[in-house]
Amino acid sequence: MTEDHRMPPETRQLLAWYAVNGRDLPWRVRGGPHPDPYAVWVSEIMLQQTTVKTVLDYFPRWMERFPTLKSLAESPLDDVLKTWQGLGYYARARKMHECARHVMDHCGGVFPRQREKLLKLPGIGPYTASSLCAFAFDLPETVVDGNVIRVLARLRGLTGEADRNVIYPLAAELTPRTCGADYASAVMDLGATVCKASSPLCGECPWRESCVARREGIQNRIPVLKRPEKKKKCGAVFILENARGELFIRRRPGRGLLAGLWELPWSDDGTFPFSADWRRMPLSVRHVFTHFDLTLAFYRCDPPFPGDLTGTGVFVTERDQEKYAFSTLMKKVLKELGRAG
Ligand code: SF4
Repeated sequence: MTEDHRMPPETRQLLAWYAVNGRDLPWRVRGGPHPDPYAVWVSEIMLQQTTVKTVLDYFPRWMERFPTLKSLAESPLDDVLKTWQGLGYYARARKMHECARHVMDHCGGVFPRQREKLLKLPGIGPYTASSLCAFAFDLPETVVDGNVIRVLARLRGLTGEADRNVIYPLAAELTPRTCGADYASAVMDLGATVCKASSPLCGECPWRESCVARREGIQNRIPVLKRPEKKKKCGAVFILENARGELFIRRRPGRGLLAGLWELPWSDDGTFPFSADWRRMPLSVRHVFTHFDLTLAFYRCDPPFPGDLTGTGVFVTERDQEKYAFSTLMKKVLKELGRAG
């Protein structure tokens, strides 16, 4: 860590705390050479919508299967989706594959260091571009995630609604001109381990003297977040089982929700795929997507099935199921049916 006396005192306090208390995460290099931008990028994409605990489980397996950007670019999409299986939000995996190929073909196999250039890559939005600049290239980039929003809203005692736009200027004031990676990691670690969502450990906090929320005893009322209510949908999943006990599955289109993954036919509004003697089964599953909350009722019908439907997929045995990449929703459906997902 470079000591810079022009840093705001709170930045210095936080960096000193991080030097002793920062988390050792496999995609970070603390106190040594810069980390591998590919590893940082993989971790950042995985961490979107996924907890650190889950990513710690998936990350080593991913890096073993695709140790370099080149190996990811050269792998078939099916392998990528299969390795991603269980992490959800599969668009992330498809975009990673597309991005790896783009960087190999158009950027000489190396991630650019400029935020504007990173933003032009598939699947890299403003947050990921800032994260890569800070974590991979140690640049003085301000990174604002949920942890940062919570910590800074409490530090400054913001009792109004807080979001990225409100917090960004406060975060930028504290971002140092050097140690970009350490500072961005430090503020996130503080949020994850000390300034936790409930019951923050203020006695262990490097900002305990200056924190407005602590002084006023309002830590647990901050931040006030805008949370749009998720739309609820009631859909149906259709079980087509042939006389050999094989289930009909099909592949989803290459674009849109859960693109490219395998599924049992389902609809999010209960529309039936063809007219038949559908019988309701005493089963259901619930799954929460980013924008809606879905409950699927189960229906089955007996063969013969229409040729125009079965011609669009395959019948598989329970043992062969594992060769196909299913979404978490479909794994829940298979589990509810009593078949290994
Ligand atoms: S003093 Fe408490 S509320 Fe304030 S930033 Fe630290 S942990 Fe969070």
